[in-house]
Amino acid sequence: MKKELYLVISGPSGVGKDTVASRLGGWISVSATTRPMRPGDEEGVTYFFHTREEFENMIAEGELLEYATYGGNYYGTPKTPAKEHAEKGDLVIFVIEVAGAAQVKKQFPEAVRIFLAPPSWEVLRERLEGRGTDSQEKIEERLMIARKEMEIGEREYEYVVVNDDLDTTIETIKNIIEKEKGR
Ligand code: ADP
Ligand code: 5GP
Repeated sequence: MKKELYLVISGPSGVGKDTVASRLGGWISVSATTRPMRPGDEEGVTYFFHTREEFENMIAEGELLEYATYGGNYYGTPKTPAKEHAEKGDLVIFVIEVAGAAQVKKQFPEAVRIFLAPPSWEVLRERLEGRGTDSQEKIEERLMIARKEMEIGEREYEYVVVNDDLDTTIETIKNIIEKEKGR
């Protein structure tokens, strides 16, 4: 059995990544970002919120495992906590977009990337609107980015899972984790 497993979950905004990740029983990495806080955000819980200057310092100091820009803001994974949790043998989960996921895969070739896809574009729009955290303009921007992400996910990821019924999705991903841990 492998000691640690790096699991990367990507997918369009609103598809259900955070909801799914929180039910897998692993340690979820808290990212750093320069995007403004949204309703429901909490410093150090959903993200570490930084200015651009602070974020660029973190890049320069080599504190990030990976980083990318998305919707005009920086997002990145702090290196140290992920390393510590991996060494403890935890299932380490990164909920990140596709460019950052490629950087993780380069550093940890054994990392498993799962792309969460929506059952349809209509359902994705409904989930984004239903979450009630983004303006209409931001929702349109996220749907545009989603089309590109879907292409990459289907082409490059180890697994694509359609997040239709939530319980089924959790079961499917738990099965993937068991299989990958047994390798
Ligand atoms: P993401 O992290 O991908 O942006 P969220 O986890 O915030 O997405 O989920 C977006 C919305 O969709 C939330 O309101 C969440 O409760 C809902 N949701 C997530 N998964 C499902 C599902 N399988 N079926 C129905 N609604 C879902
Ligand atoms: P949101 O603004 O909706 O919280 O996140 C926008 C996108 O950034 C999502 O696709 C999310 O998965 C991604 N993201 C969050 N944290 C990170 C990170 O640390 N690195 C990268 N590359 N992407 C991230």
